[in-house]
Amino acid sequence: MLRRKEIRLTNSANSKYLKRVSLASQYDMPHGSVPVNPASLSPNNSYGIPEFVKRGFYVDMPFTCKHCGTPQIWTAQQQHWWYELAKGDIWTIAVLCRPCRIKERERKALARKIHLEGLLRKRQLSNNKLPQEIIANQQLIMQL
Ligand SMILES: [Zn+2]
Repeated sequence: MLRRKEIRLTNSANSKYLKRVSLASQYDMPHGSVPVNPASLSPNNSYGIPEFVKRGFYVDMPFTCKHCGTPQIWTAQQQHWWYELAKGDIWTIAVLCRPCRIKERERKALARKIHLEGLLRKRQLSNNKLPQEIIANQQLIMQL
C-alpha cells in the first residue's frame, strides 16, 4: 500500500518535472538541436530520466562504431526519429555506424533463417521417426 503511494507520487513528480524541463530548456537550444516531446517517447518502467529528456532537446552525439571503430555522429534528427517515431527504448544509444548496422541486420536475418530451417528439419525428422517408433513398439508388443 505504502509502496504504491510512493510509486504514484514518484510518477506524478516525474511527469511534472518532464513538462517543466521540456518547456524551460527550449530557450537555450543550440543550433541544429531538436526539441524532445516526452509524450511521444516509448513507455517504460524506469524511475530514471535520460539526459536528453532532462535537457529538453536532442543534440548531435559523437560516438565510435563498436564494430569498425569509425568516429560517427548520431544527429539530433536521427535521435528524434529513433526515440519518438520508431519508439526506440529511451535508454538505448547508437553504437554502430550505418554500414555496420546494415551488415548486422543481414547477419541476424541469416542466423534467424538458419535457425528456422534447423527447427523445420528437426520437426520433419521427428515426424518421420514417430511412425517408425510406433511400428517398433508394436513389433515389440507382438513378440510378448
Ligand atoms: Zn562501423
